This record gives sequence, C-alpha cells and structure tokens, in this order.
Amino acid sequence: MPLYSETIHSLHEKLREGTVTSTMITQSVLDRISEVDGKVRCYLTVTREAALEAAGQSDERFRKGDVSSPLDGIPLGIKDIFLTEGVRTTAGSRILENFVPPYDGTPVSRLKKAGAVITGKLNMDEFAMGSSNENSGFFPTLNPWDKARVPGGSSGGSAAAVAAGEAIATLGTDTGGSIRQPASHCGVVGLKPTYGRVSRYGVIAFASSLDQVGPLTRDVRDCAIMLKAIAGHDPADSTSARVPVPDYPSLLTGDISGMKIGLPVEYFPEGLDPEVEAPVRKAAEALEKRGASLVSVSLPSTRYAVATYYIIAPAEASSNLARYDGVKYGVRLSDQGGLLEMYRQTRSKGFGPEVKRRIMLGTFALSAGYYDAYYGKAQRVRTLIRREFEEVFSKVDLLLSPASPTPAFPLGDRVEDPLRMYMCDMFTIPVNIAGLAAVSLPCGLTPGNLPVGVQLIGPAFREEVLLNAAYAYEGERGEFPNCKVL
Ligand code: GLN
Repeated sequence: MPLYSETIHSLHEKLREGTVTSTMITQSVLDRISEVDGKVRCYLTVTREAALEAAGQSDERFRKGDVSSPLDGIPLGIKDIFLTEGVRTTAGSRILENFVPPYDGTPVSRLKKAGAVITGKLNMDEFAMGSSNENSGFFPTLNPWDKARVPGGSSGGSAAAVAAGEAIATLGTDTGGSIRQPASHCGVVGLKPTYGRVSRYGVIAFASSLDQVGPLTRDVRDCAIMLKAIAGHDPADSTSARVPVPDYPSLLTGDISGMKIGLPVEYFPEGLDPEVEAPVRKAAEALEKRGASLVSVSLPSTRYAVATYYIIAPAEASSNLARYDGVKYGVRLSDQGGLLEMYRQTRSKGFGPEVKRRIMLGTFALSAGYYDAYYGKAQRVRTLIRREFEEVFSKVDLLLSPASPTPAFPLGDRVEDPLRMYMCDMFTIPVNIAGLAAVSLPCGLTPGNLPVGVQLIGPAFREEVLLNAAYAYEGERGEFPNCKVL
C-alpha cells in the first residue's frame, strides 16, 4: 500500500517503529499530488518546500525520541479558508487572489504545534458558498470517483484530496453541510463538531453563528485524532467554549450496546433517492446488530430549515463580507473615479455571482422595513428547530439520516438552478442551525459506483458518543475503498 493512501494512525505506528520517515511519507504525498492533481484539481497552492522542511524537523524529533503527538510528521491539506502565515489564502475568491496572511489561524497553528506537515491549500466554493466547488473563483475540483461529477462543497478540495491520496487528512469548515456533504460524495469521513468546539480564529468568516471547523479523514480513528488536536477553548475566539476536551481516540471502544438511535421521519421523505436510502437504512441495521436500538422520531420543523438558513447565513455573510472593499484586503480595482467607484469596481469584479447573490439576499433581509419579517422570523424558527432537537435528545442518544439526498451529481447539473443546489444540504443544515455535532461516513456505493454517506447527529459537546457509534458502525461495515486509484 503506498504511503499516501494510509491512515494517520497506521503511519504513526510506522513512524514510531522507524520503518518510515516523515520525509518519505511527505515525498509520497507530494509525488502523488504531481501525478494526479492535474486530473482532480484539489490544490490552489502546494507548499512543497515548507512541507519537506517540516518533515525533516519531524524526523529529527523521532530520532531524538521527542514525539508525543499522533500527528507528528503527518502530511495534511488545509482548506483555503484558513489563514496560513506567509502562504496565500484566497477563500476561493478572486478578491483575495493575492492575499498573504501575516499569521496562522488557531486550527492551523494547533496542527503545526502537533507536528503536522502542511502540504498546501485546498480549493473550495468562493467564501464557502456552494455545494459543488463550481463556485470557486479559480476552477472546479472534480470527484475522484467520477471526474464528470462534482466532489460536493464547499470543502470539495478537502474531501477530494483525501479520496485521491493527495493528503492523509484535511481540514474543512461546515456552515450548512460543507464538510459532511463533500465527505459523503467522495467516500471519506467528515465531522462537523459542535458550535464552539473548535476555535474559528483566523478562519475567514462566512456566517459566524453557523461556521464550524472540522476534519476530513479516511476513517473514524483519524477523525478522533484530528478533533483532539484542534478542539478546545481559545482566548482569541470568544465563541469557543470552555468545555474540557475528552481524549477522543481512547474513547473509541466500539461498544454501543443499549444506545438508542433515532431515525427522524422527515429525513427519509417520500421520493428520497432509493440509491441513497438503501445503504443508509443498511447502516442503521448494522448499528442495531451492534446492540443499538432504533426508534422512529419526528422533527417537524425540519422543513423550514433550508429557508431559515438562507435568511440567516446570507444576512451574516453580507455583514462579514463588507470588509472586502479594496481598502484593507486583497484586490483593488480602479483607482480613478473616487472612492465609491473603487468600491463598486472592486466588489462587482472581485466577487463571483453566487457571493453577490448572497450579499444582496442578506442585505435585503436585514433592511429596515423587512428585518422583522425575514431575519426576526428566521431567528424564531431557529429557536424552534433547536428545541425540537433538544426534546428528541431527551429520548435518544443519536440520530441517523442520509448526509445528502443524492450521490455526487454531474458537473454543470445545478449551476443554473440555485434552489436545487441549496437542497443538497436539507439534511445537514438543521445541525448547524441547532449548533450540534454530526459526522458523515461512507456506508456503501450506488450501482453506478458512487459513494453514499450516512450522517450521525449527536447532542452538543458529545462528539465522543458520536465518534464511538461511527467507529462501531465502521467495524461492522468493514473496509471501504477510501483512497481511489486514479
Ligand atoms: N452549501 C451551503 C451553502 O452554500 C453550505 C455551505 C457551507 O457549509 N459552507 O451555503
């Protein structure tokens, strides 16, 4: 098995035994990038030299017996929404084409402190708005399972890179499904932690009350390792919670006997693609075999979730994106014609069409005469959705659903139809609205050989329960081809 296709934990063992070095692993990943990135286009920036240098330093630590972290020497890719010191960070937008941040965001600095090797920055939908990577200001990433299809979005580059062997694991963000949906389409594990679990300091903001950072990995153990490294309070982000961080990897026992898992009827609607429904229901049965009991539950406000999201997220985005005005960050267009003209030119040429649509939607929803009718109402529905989850979690430990209503769709299929694109996230958005944790993991393949993801949703700050159930399922499911031959 080539090194680039292995898991964090298997590589860590080899590093400890001394049978491989970080330089060997890093070189294997960098060679793989040279070989296949032209076909799938995951990376916006590859940081070869810095990666090899960090690998050399890790090798030195292993030689000295000075290693405590399971991430030491492991090559990871980073979604281009995370600030990286001295390395261009675009958020997938032309408006930040040449933006080089002066510092690392907290999730990145924590990975670096854990000894990880950063291979570069991964493609994404512009400012994380999208479900297909087709909204990238640069080029779309393709799905390693079928290059005529999208990898999902907005962390499409992060999911595809893991699936293509172009990183051992990656970091993404999830505002309405952007980790779980691409994970589902690319056949990898993707975790959206609880709101507040991971610091968002140095993560370019989309919708601040929904955004959360999380890992994309080849298996559940790797996911637990990554979460442990990035989780925990950060004085630089006041929304990061002061809640102790459990030792996630050591809590993976696979014992879920007595666990109650709810299947919300609203997440298995009539007309759900049978190619998705069948493997997801099989995953539920696998958990039952492991000793969990399945119960049917109802979350009636689910049907308002997407509409609620498309008021709240654009409203927050319109305010977060006001800072890209050609003065402080990135591109500036037209110095003639005065300040207003400079703003107008910079923003109308620097942003892509979907970002502009969201800014307009959000500005409208927040405008004086409409604030109550839209934003105010959306906030009230948000409370309703959150309460329904709270109530259901007094009866069950976890919920199970499809991660996405369809498998990966063909490129170009939905670009002309934003509403259809928005529906990609019907099963993931409610989790962000309620600030909960959820994971997507591969549960099978369609007859056309496309991966399908099952989503497990847990209560806030119970990622250890979520991951343990995912781990139990993975054991029951058996091997999944989580690194594609290309
Ligand atoms: N696809 C959703 C959107 O376009 C969610 C994106 C995300 O989670 N960042 O907003």
